[in-house]
Amino acid sequence: MTDTLFAKIIRREIPADIVYEDDEVLGFRDINPQAPVHVLFIPKKPFATLNELSDADGPTVGKLVLAAVRWAGTQGFSEDGYRLVMNCNRDGGQTVYHIHLHLLAGRTMHWPPG
Ligand code: IMP
Repeated sequence: MTDTLFAKIIRREIPADIVYEDDEVLGFRDINPQAPVHVLFIPKKPFATLNELSDADGPTVGKLVLAAVRWAGTQGFSEDGYRLVMNCNRDGGQTVYHIHLHLLAGRTMHWPPG
């Protein structure tokens, strides 16, 4: 188990600008946006890092991605494009240890990322 500030957002113990919610996934705007649209999609079931995922968690990860894709499709930028990113551990740039999917949109992205 992991209890992070994202778990507190799920429990509504700290405020967040929530844009999406279903039984398994919450989506809210990043507090330090790196693009005009920057939303974090998190599973309500906490995993500290991607390394904790097992085969049984495939549906959870699928729902996370589909939630982001479906939400993007309602926002008018999905045809222009967007980026989905998940960071893992120190070298991946992870700072919050409750897995999350970044959705970035509203500007041209660059490759490779920094
Ligand atoms: P990471 O670096 O992939 O772990 O991403 C963590 C993200 O969480 C960063 O983009 C932060 O700006 C974001 N973040 C940290 N605290 C909050 C918060 O309280 N609300 C919304 N986003 C947050």
